[in-house]
Amino acid sequence: MSYDAVVVGAGHNGLAAAVHLAAKGWKVAVVEAKAEAGGAVKTRELTVAGFRHDVAAMNLSMFAGSAFFAEYKDALTAHGLAFVPAADCFATVFRDDTFLGVSSDLEKTSAGIAALSSADAVAWRAMLAEFGSDAPHIFGLLGAPMPSLAAAKVVWKAWRQKGTGWLYDTLRLLFASPRDFLDARFKHVKLKTMMAAWGLHLDFPPDVAGGALFPYLESMASQAFGMVIGKGGADTIITAMTSLLTAKGGELILNAPVESIRVSGGRATGVALADGRILEAQKAVIANIHLKILFGRLVAADEARADFDRKVGQFRAGPGTMMIHLALEDLPDWRAGEALKRFAYVHVAPDLEMMSRVYAEAAAGLLPTEPVLVVGQPTAIDPTRAPEGKHVLWVQVRVLPAEFHGDAAGEITARNWDDAKEAYAERALDIIERYAPGLRSKVLGRAIFSPTDLERENPNLIGGDNLSGSHHLDQNFIFRPVAGYSRYATPVKSLYMCGASTWPGAGTGAGSGFMLAKMLSRR
Ligand SMILES: Cc1cc2nc3c(=O)[nH]c(=O)nc-3n(C[C@H](O)[C@H](O)[C@H](O)COP(=O)(O)OP(=O)(O)OC[C@H]3O[C@@H](n4cnc5c(N)ncnc54)[C@H](O)[C@@H]3O)c2cc1C
Repeated sequence: MSYDAVVVGAGHNGLAAAVHLAAKGWKVAVVEAKAEAGGAVKTRELTVAGFRHDVAAMNLSMFAGSAFFAEYKDALTAHGLAFVPAADCFATVFRDDTFLGVSSDLEKTSAGIAALSSADAVAWRAMLAEFGSDAPHIFGLLGAPMPSLAAAKVVWKAWRQKGTGWLYDTLRLLFASPRDFLDARFKHVKLKTMMAAWGLHLDFPPDVAGGALFPYLESMASQAFGMVIGKGGADTIITAMTSLLTAKGGELILNAPVESIRVSGGRATGVALADGRILEAQKAVIANIHLKILFGRLVAADEARADFDRKVGQFRAGPGTMMIHLALEDLPDWRAGEALKRFAYVHVAPDLEMMSRVYAEAAAGLLPTEPVLVVGQPTAIDPTRAPEGKHVLWVQVRVLPAEFHGDAAGEITARNWDDAKEAYAERALDIIERYAPGLRSKVLGRAIFSPTDLERENPNLIGGDNLSGSHHLDQNFIFRPVAGYSRYATPVKSLYMCGASTWPGAGTGAGSGFMLAKMLSRR
């Protein structure tokens, strides 16, 4: 079988690339190892019949704000894509049983902040006003190939409009740690804590340089645009993309692990599947798979690219994550108040000290004493995911070591995830019980994915790393995934990579797949 392009992996980036190339007239096949497309964006009845759980990603705001969605919005909507907006986006619960949250209603957010510090409420509005005029430039940069003329044009235009001082301020934002940035802008520790929790969605505890950007963007974007989840499940984007792909003549081949990339004369010519089938690619093989899988397992070693392979070997993973999925009789009874039940995300990350500690313990190869919890309440926003009156809870446990030699709390004796996951999940549930007593009595069913299980589910999540590679500054921007190869080409001609391990990194923004497809189709 022969195609113009063969895409390896049906993650949302691979699908975005395939949809765009098919729309430009390319003959495209997407080959996926698993029985379902979607990679880290899947929805399943994991616990009890009738309860639909987002296995990994739940928050689709990045997809909704993406250039890919902007271009294919009508077509994707016609193919069934639907979002549900969350008016109450995210909040943090504190040890004194209070909370602070961001709602799309500015007055509501402001009132919560003003109750802590009137100066901070003014500073919040000032930051939001700046975001309004900064966002097009910042998102323009994050949505441009790196480096590229387009990126240079964004910087040039921003400089013309806003001046040198703004450029320096923005560069400082890119380099700052969450704590330094937040200390410079706000006074109250609860506000800083609420925003800093976003750093731990990536691998930025409070004092790591480069960590300020995500807390800033997530906080301001939630305030300015709100947050969205998928109607019925995050898989709404995947079912719509696969349906659009086939409507445009593309093929999706499931249960088809690619065993090797075929290379001849230094050029990728196709792929070999584990079942022996060969798919030829006339123009491009696009790997929507982790760089280390691509060059560690699928492309034969070659002395001629020893330097590149060495750098691939040095590409660092981010920390691991665990998912706990609960089917519930009712939402948690948060001590901090009924109002918390309406928030899409409740961060259980009550102070900056615990955020620093959890990262240090995980980095040292220890099970953290008190992990950060992201408690997602999708059915508070989209009740269609569970039987009437019932709920699902999506709990992401961050940040965890892929492998560990001890438990910082000195309680768990197991030394691998298969043996430790139940006990560690109990630790996470104990933490929620502290803030929402009685949670366990509401549980109708549960499913736990340790870091190891997440990698079994999606090989791209090496060691349960939900980022497909650390986002620290030395692995981001022009350094992602390897300096000199941030524009999706590889040392093998006609072999391209996209996905979370490439610029602009993890998340559901479909950026790498779409940018690569536009570069290949030249439009
Ligand atoms: C637990 C968790 C929670 C997250 N939450 C959010 C969130 O709320 N919001 C958000 O924006 N982002 C979130 N993310 C991040 C986001 O989901 C990912 O960064 C993104 O989905 C990665 O997409 P991708 O296109 O790189 O490919 P992936 O989703 O990694 O898909 C790659 C595909 O390639 C396939 N594959 C691998 N090897 C082969 C092979 N040899 N042959 C064929 N196929 C192969 C895999 O099976 C997989 O289907 C989360 C991630 C995780 C793990």
